[in-house]
Amino acid sequence: MTAATAAIGARPDPSSPVLLARPLDLERATSAVADLLDALGLDRRTDGLADTPARVARMFGELLTPEPFEATTFPNDAGYDELVLVSDIPFTSLCEHHLLPFRGTAHVGYLPGERIVGLSKLARLVESFARRPQVQERMTAQIADWLRDHLEPRGVGVVLEAEHLCMSIRGVRADGARTVTSTLYGLLRDRPAARQEFLELARPSRGRS
Ligand code: ZN
Repeated sequence: MTAATAAIGARPDPSSPVLLARPLDLERATSAVADLLDALGLDRRTDGLADTPARVARMFGELLTPEPFEATTFPNDAGYDELVLVSDIPFTSLCEHHLLPFRGTAHVGYLPGERIVGLSKLARLVESFARRPQVQERMTAQIADWLRDHLEPRGVGVVLEAEHLCMSIRGVRADGARTVTSTLYGLLRDRPAARQEFLELARPSRGRS
């Protein structure tokens, strides 16, 4: 069995225009948050706010730093050809328009072709694409594109359902509203029975009986 390995998060990925452009500078981020608090008219001398700039800088660092991992793929020697689906993978990402979190679950599936990948790697893949400034539509497509490009599967299906804090706590205040996005390729898009099976298994949890 020959294994192929692709490092995710270890170096900029050309399909990901919004990955960190330079190394995280915690000191600079801390002083920028301090400036922001000042500009917002807050009094940083209070006990509660004194360490907030450093805490906020570390928090953003964490939310924007995926753990690098090796997504090893293997030849599909056993010829498994049924749907592989991992559903309800929890994720938290950061809306790039407001820098507020959006959180939810991902359902990631593929119809194996030439190669397969460890199931736990599908969850790591979601985490990796979540830890950067995102929009949900692009994140959905990035996960699907990665599977299409690295596994050469007969079909790919990715469904994301998430609540966006920028929608629920400000603006329209649509508390509890969930956004569902999907990207389907190959047979999971074009063959009605396969598409239906996937969408049945990957449908948003609230619609599930
Ligand atoms: Zn937003």
